[in-house]
Amino acid sequence: MRLAIYLALLTAAVTVLGPQVHSWEVPVPSSTNSPTASMAASQTSAAEVTPSWVKDSVAKMERELVAKYGELQRARVQRGLQQVAEFWRAEDGDAATFEDFVRANFAGDQVTLDTMFNRLESLLEQLGGHMHEINREFRQQSDLDLGPVLPFDEIIGGYDPSAHVLDDFFQNKLAFVVLLNFPLTRLDQRLKDGPSWSRRQWAEARLAQGFSKRIPADVNLGIAQAEAQAGQYIAEYNIWMYHLVDAQRQRLFPPKMRLLSHWNLRDEIKADYADSSGGLAKQRMIQQVMERIVTQTIPAEVVNNPAFDWNPFTNDVTTAAAKDSDTATVPAAKPNNAREPDTRYATLQKTFFASRKADPYSPTAPTLIARRFNEDREIPEARVRAMLEQVLTSPLVPQVAKLIESRLKRPLEPFDVWYSGFRPGSQYTEAQLDEMIAKKYPTARAYQQDIPNLLMKLGFSPERAQYVARNIVVDPARGSGHAMGAEMRAEKAHLRTRVEKGGMNYKGFNIAVHEMGHNVEQTFSLNDIDHTLLKGVPNTAFTEALAFVFQGHDLELLGLPAPDARSQSEKTLNDFWGTYEIAGVALVDMAVWHWMYDHPRATPKELNDATVLISKDVWNQYYAPVFHKKDVVLLGIYSHMIDSFLYLPDYPIGHMIAFQIEEQMKKAGSIGPEFERMAKMGDVTPDLWMENATGHPVGPEALLAATQSALASVGGGR
Ligand SMILES: [Zn+2]
Repeated sequence: MRLAIYLALLTAAVTVLGPQVHSWEVPVPSSTNSPTASMAASQTSAAEVTPSWVKDSVAKMERELVAKYGELQRARVQRGLQQVAEFWRAEDGDAATFEDFVRANFAGDQVTLDTMFNRLESLLEQLGGHMHEINREFRQQSDLDLGPVLPFDEIIGGYDPSAHVLDDFFQNKLAFVVLLNFPLTRLDQRLKDGPSWSRRQWAEARLAQGFSKRIPADVNLGIAQAEAQAGQYIAEYNIWMYHLVDAQRQRLFPPKMRLLSHWNLRDEIKADYADSSGGLAKQRMIQQVMERIVTQTIPAEVVNNPAFDWNPFTNDVTTAAAKDSDTATVPAAKPNNAREPDTRYATLQKTFFASRKADPYSPTAPTLIARRFNEDREIPEARVRAMLEQVLTSPLVPQVAKLIESRLKRPLEPFDVWYSGFRPGSQYTEAQLDEMIAKKYPTARAYQQDIPNLLMKLGFSPERAQYVARNIVVDPARGSGHAMGAEMRAEKAHLRTRVEKGGMNYKGFNIAVHEMGHNVEQTFSLNDIDHTLLKGVPNTAFTEALAFVFQGHDLELLGLPAPDARSQSEKTLNDFWGTYEIAGVALVDMAVWHWMYDHPRATPKELNDATVLISKDVWNQYYAPVFHKKDVVLLGIYSHMIDSFLYLPDYPIGHMIAFQIEEQMKKAGSIGPEFERMAKMGDVTPDLWMENATGHPVGPEALLAATQSALASVGGGR
């Protein structure tokens, strides 16, 4: 139940965020120039909802509490009163109610404060743990391979019993008890002072953070609705590939092929490298389609519609001359190529408008941008940008690019940002591995019984291996598999894995090993940590990195030799090129959100123009020197940019974190004890976690070093 939301009370804190929020310098179209000030004018400020008597009551209670508990408590009294005042609304009660509440609930001595802290920590663990338990049980039918899912199962599975907990706790004033006694902190404080905090101080900081926002229900609902709408727009954005025609009216793609933007389109580009005769033409055509989506010059009628043929180069639309679908809508009018009317950007803008409504209730992270970086990621935006630029401007980029060109035997084209030719070789075919694994694991139970043995192979002592295995339950998954950790110590972590009728196959095993990595992390970071308020890891990139460590050793777990150096180098180069690609995409995402905040009254068309300009600018700065082509807009194609609220920077950071952890594991030699040591650090800031794990803050150095040596080992092409 981590509510990673932080706000502070002093308005001065806003200036701390200011420089980060406004430091982006991508040029924007001159046609749009509404300044930030006009936006501020249209927003409610949190101060407007604070009752007018609060100031006097705060002063009165400060005098009273200091008189009662002594001068030494003054700083705590002031802080607590400020924090309560910040969130108190007229409906919470009048001045007398406020004063009585403060009188009754301020813990003015250490013994009372310790009792309060310990009890809250234990009870919140129980609450989160049981809520999660209900969730898991309610989702059982949809998550596990237990036969048909009926419509009512979906209703049950979608129910979240904890949805109103935060509202309830403001209503019954438990939230105010926490705010009165424990410190709200800002990211700059956690970064600066956090390294010298005691574990108890960290736990108190996380406790308070759980109550650091009070966003009105209608604002949250608006955000959820905008998110759902954007998700829907993205989920239905298919391109019917058979209906793409070239200048000779040839169809390059097979009938019925329907690709979702951008994932399937991108993956088709990756797959086309294997097609030595027709692949290049297909890749060029997909690039053209992507560019028309970004610029919104795509004809509206060809989106998710097999009724028309479309030449994405000339943009000609004709009635489909061949049929590959029964669902083709009969053309209402003559085919035309009227462009999609900026729906992509209108959709994105709605997520911005909805997010912005939460700003006044988040005074020290007063934009979605600040909330994403300072609260969710806990790495300042300026640092994230610097890390991305470090990858983008690395001298390794042209070297890897050269290697790709030598393998392709042609100059790079823009879609080669998705080059997929770095592949680890394998001594075994997948069929051989399937056979081996099916024999070893005919059932999920067989895998469960082997867990201690697998963990010992990863370097865990027999005792630790048995201990962890006792905390993992293996269930048969309906889908490909996932890990579901517990939220309280009385519960176990669940490993959901797919076992086919004939036994587990290699894909299933590979995923099971990954998910087992999650379960082991979840067990240590809950059951073996000093404070349950610090359970978990800083963010998903960390648990993914730890799971990848396990996954990377799956062959050894089968008693087979580890991937050789060449294989590992190929994998590293693949990850490096992927990080280079997604780093630019992340910069575009960041710049577009800044632009929206700077131009809150822009039209969707203006946002379209700005996104195109930003995409070109990032491309021209970091990709054109390598690709020798300017003004490419491909970096703007990611669907996440439309429906995921500035999520994209997580990907490149995730790659960097994975390499740092991987490198540390290699240094340590044995995975087991090192894994346990890292996982017990818990939910502190990413930099502090990484300092403890590796001796360095989060950064791209490990990735770059690994790439350097991979290049040396692979050489200048084969
Ligand atoms: Zn995972």
